[in-house]
Amino acid sequence: MFEKILIANRGEIALRIHRACREMGIQTVAIHSTADADAMHVRLADESVCIGPAPIKDSYLNIPAILSAANITGAEAIHPGVGFLSENADFAAMVEEHGLVFIGPTPEHISLMGDKVAAKKAAEDLGIPIVPGSDGAVDTAEEARATADRIGYPVLIKATAGGGGRGMKVAQNASEVEEAYRQARNEAKNAFGNDIVYMEKYLGRPRHIEVQLLADGQGGSIHLGERDCSLQRRHQKLLEEALSPALNAEQRSAIGARVAEAMLDLGYRGAGTIEFLYEDGEFYFIEMNTRIQVEHPISEAITGVDLVREQIRVAAGLPLDLKQSDIKFSGHAIECRINAENPETFVPSPGRVTDYHAPGGLGVRVDSGLYAGYRIPSAYDSLIAKLIVHGQTRNECLMRLRRALEEFVIVGVDTSIPLHQRLIGEQDFINGDYDIHWLEKFVAGTL
Ligand code: ADP
Repeated sequence: MFEKILIANRGEIALRIHRACREMGIQTVAIHSTADADAMHVRLADESVCIGPAPIKDSYLNIPAILSAANITGAEAIHPGVGFLSENADFAAMVEEHGLVFIGPTPEHISLMGDKVAAKKAAEDLGIPIVPGSDGAVDTAEEARATADRIGYPVLIKATAGGGGRGMKVAQNASEVEEAYRQARNEAKNAFGNDIVYMEKYLGRPRHIEVQLLADGQGGSIHLGERDCSLQRRHQKLLEEALSPALNAEQRSAIGARVAEAMLDLGYRGAGTIEFLYEDGEFYFIEMNTRIQVEHPISEAITGVDLVREQIRVAAGLPLDLKQSDIKFSGHAIECRINAENPETFVPSPGRVTDYHAPGGLGVRVDSGLYAGYRIPSAYDSLIAKLIVHGQTRNECLMRLRRALEEFVIVGVDTSIPLHQRLIGEQDFINGDYDIHWLEKFVAGTL
């Protein structure tokens, strides 16, 4: 096992990784920008290295500085966390070229899943259900029209280089398709410098359901059930639950077995998530994330498995010591992403936290680097805490979540806590009856 790991991230996820390391007896190296000198993960780590000024390109994306920090501290492995360099195949390759271990999959698998068209093709070849659509890129407006006629309206035109929902256009019928095609290419060119697009059938009321996987690249591959992340605003997840209120045990084990098998065939090593849209009993692959995800703690709550620990173990070359039959789902878990932002206007609210008290008690977990006196920097995203609540039933979980939100005190900045409180009181949410468009309507007051 590694003796020392460098954590190439910040905020709550850096702290999360530090915790797994400490419990495994592994020393940690924190890296940080000048804006994060007072961050909790920096305070707790065994060593820390300042790698640059606040802008992420100069610090958390500064590959030479990160590799040097690993070098001077004698770290043997780098955990990239989420975002930043976590899905950068070149970074993963460079880490290995420097004789260090990248805690994640191979650069080849990262790059395969990072290209949307290639990923979709790979998923199809591996027997994972995909959204009907074009066979790869669509090169002309005429081809767009012919493809739409074949798959049926409405259709969605998507950028291969897409991300965050940009470069996507819906065409409801034949009169709209050529214009939508041109717009999508333009938008993709402007946003990503790459105007290659492909097409899919547009699903009207899907849920976002994703399956958590763990594989060791040496014959072990399991799934840890699904998370329902349908509650999104502008493609940002706000609250996630596991298991999904929309699936039964049979559907769960069928889709889980399918993706675990697919990862075995691919020879995948690491933690990963396969994201699906789910509508009328059918799953449609949208993408695979080749890293740990922000919402991983709800899967940990219902399975008792420490996913970050398992990532570290398989990266060190150990086989998974969990079999599918060891994974038992217990109860229900919900995560609220608490952001430093106005709960109505969503305007970010960085600044000094003057008072802080985290909720506790049975079944309550808070992943956060906040403390009283901490100044939330304006340079980074606004996620400041994750509240994860576990109950024996969904109803118990909802009651516990309500009381935990009541206990949470964060003074000095605006937070999304009032929005979560409103949301969990809403009847559709209580009934588990929502799709990926529901939250936008709830927020706009147009339900
Ligand atoms: P990005 O990488 O830009 O986030 P995704 O392919 O993950 O792109 O899609 C982002 C979101 O767009 C999905 O979560 C879903 O809300 C919506 N979406 C994607 N494909 C479809 C589709 N075929 N039908 C309906 N909505 C879709």
